[in-house]
Amino acid sequence: MAIRKIRVMGDDILRKTSKEVKEVNDKIRALISDMLDTMYDAEGVGLAAPQVGILKRIAVIDVSEEADSPIVLINPVIVETDGEQRGSEGCLSVPGKVGIVTRPDYVKVKAYTQDMEEAVYEGTGLLARALIHEVEHLDGKIYVDLVEGRLRDVSEFEDDEEE
Ligand code: ZN
Repeated sequence: MAIRKIRVMGDDILRKTSKEVKEVNDKIRALISDMLDTMYDAEGVGLAAPQVGILKRIAVIDVSEEADSPIVLINPVIVETDGEQRGSEGCLSVPGKVGIVTRPDYVKVKAYTQDMEEAVYEGTGLLARALIHEVEHLDGKIYVDLVEGRLRDVSEFEDDEEE
């Protein structure tokens, strides 16, 4: 188990396009295991490989309350979206910040498993948001570009919610 350093906004690597994974070898398996450790350690719901400095099309997600239901996506492609949800979004590469982003409310993703078998993942609500957010990281996109209004501090945002 190893925690990797999370790259933060301003780091050029976050704006680059990641490359497809051709083969899941020991190095890739170790990367995935470290990405899960890093995501759970940072208490995030998703993490993409470029966020730990690796330009490969791999992302991990876990939106469960118990943090015990990891989803590993290799070469994910969004194949369907539907509906709309407007809500707050954050990113481990943009620490302490949050912004309002409108996303589809349903997202269907095709990806490969660690055995390089094709798999389909569908999500609504938070899972849909996480799926699209992580896939966008693999194309060098960060959610801050989509924020309505301005990016806010988490503390400021929580104060507003209480009003
Ligand atoms: Zn992110």
